[in-house]
Amino acid sequence: MLTTHPFDDDKLREECGVFGIAGIDDAAAMVALGLHALQHRGQEAAGITCRNGKEFYSHRALGPVAGNFDSEEIINRLRGDSACGHVRYSTTGAGTLRNVQPLEADLASGGFAIAHNGNISNALALRDELVRHGSIFQSTSDTEVIIHLVATSKYRTLLDKFIDALKQVEGAYSLICMTAEGMIACRDPLGIRPLVMGRIGEAYVFASETVALDLVGAEYVRSVEPGELIVVTNGELRSHRPFPNNQARPCIFEHVYFSRPDSIVDGSSVYSVRKGIGAQLAIESPVDADYVIPVPDSGTPAALGFSEQSGIPFELGIIRSHYVGRTFIQPGDGVRHLGVKLKHNANRPLVNGKKIVLVDDSIVRGTTSLKIVQMMREAGAAEVHMRIASPPTMHSCFYGVNTPKREKLLAARKSIEEMREFIQADSLAFVSIDGLYRAAGEDTRHDLQPQYCDACFTGAYPTVLTDRDGEEETDQLTMLNERSDSSGTARDHEPSGDLPRLKQSAN
Ligand code: AMP
Repeated sequence: MLTTHPFDDDKLREECGVFGIAGIDDAAAMVALGLHALQHRGQEAAGITCRNGKEFYSHRALGPVAGNFDSEEIINRLRGDSACGHVRYSTTGAGTLRNVQPLEADLASGGFAIAHNGNISNALALRDELVRHGSIFQSTSDTEVIIHLVATSKYRTLLDKFIDALKQVEGAYSLICMTAEGMIACRDPLGIRPLVMGRIGEAYVFASETVALDLVGAEYVRSVEPGELIVVTNGELRSHRPFPNNQARPCIFEHVYFSRPDSIVDGSSVYSVRKGIGAQLAIESPVDADYVIPVPDSGTPAALGFSEQSGIPFELGIIRSHYVGRTFIQPGDGVRHLGVKLKHNANRPLVNGKKIVLVDDSIVRGTTSLKIVQMMREAGAAEVHMRIASPPTMHSCFYGVNTPKREKLLAARKSIEEMREFIQADSLAFVSIDGLYRAAGEDTRHDLQPQYCDACFTGAYPTVLTDRDGEEETDQLTMLNERSDSSGTARDHEPSGDLPRLKQSAN
């Protein structure tokens, strides 16, 4: 969840993580633990809301879970037997605390808290409409439109109002909501973002990834199905399927990069899929080298797979400092550029004079690859080959993943040979889209009905993108107006009394 436009690439966005538990003492302490396990999904803000009887208590903070939620004083204030929480990537700065989730509201039915992973791709359009009809927004988050749609729904029960709201939103959402009566967990009809369910004693647990279940000692039951809405009230669980059946399109990038390798996403071990991608790469783009070297940590499982398949020894030629955050989350090109050096260092004695094949999960802007290749050359590597465990990232994501504006994506601007030249490698290859699907357990990608959302690689967006399309129209209108301005013509097309366009946010 974030307050910036998805194309504003100086304000990087990451995915978010959600966790909820219903029916256990000290629920908030369990959520704090669960959020620790999801910290890789967003490090800039965290929040927990719990319910004690009908009363809701919340704590939200900028920064990671550690340091914000491990004090007894804070956890003691969050008493109750149900709680939900959220970690997110965000911009920092004044005013962002009001966007930290769970968002909370008092509805006619009582308290309501919502934690969202994903991005609603028609949030701007819905928000404009709601504001026109008198809604007063408290945040700039796309998630808040769901609260207003629920609050203004003409249906009678909270569940019907909630379903009515969801039927109006487009895009990606894995949601955990706490109501005055219980907890609701649901996943958008295409299941773009992950969500799993577990049990611990009599309590039900929901989380973005299974690693969070492991941490709290919950047993993994199953994934929440795409389009499924699960309601837990007084220890009873009910599953609803309010949407027509669709071919699910879970995000394939969860397997490539986002999810932790020790998670099970939609029934598959992320670690095995990543190793499988590495093996595919070795089959598709073999190379003669002395060592296979992962770009740690995200390239490690794929490098192992590459090494096993090719028979080239796996070695740690780059050592990563664990005391700095992900390079990608440093704002601004200047700092991001330094961040790579902060994070990685060459194992000089190992790579000196050797032909090496580096394996990383993806190239976005190319900053990391360029720095790492340079680092290997400075350390004396004789040849540096780069293998990437995903197809070229050519398109922006509108479903809650941090990708910059399209023109900043290296692969959208350059051919593979030009990219190789840019990162100064001796060779560069990406896994094919079919190779990626094979590693994810499919024979091939069904072009007419793909089994995953792979829009960042193919541009095949599985939903309507109302806000993006509106934005493109606005850009065109602005260009037209600018042209007519410069020719001295009055701006007679400016829509009068229109609301200012709000920045979109993702979760
Ligand atoms: P870049 O340096 O811009 O090419 O980014 C590529 C590096 O960022 C890779 O090493 C990935 O591990 C990492 N990465 C890729 N996608 C994301 C993302 N959405 N959020 C954070 N890091 C990412």
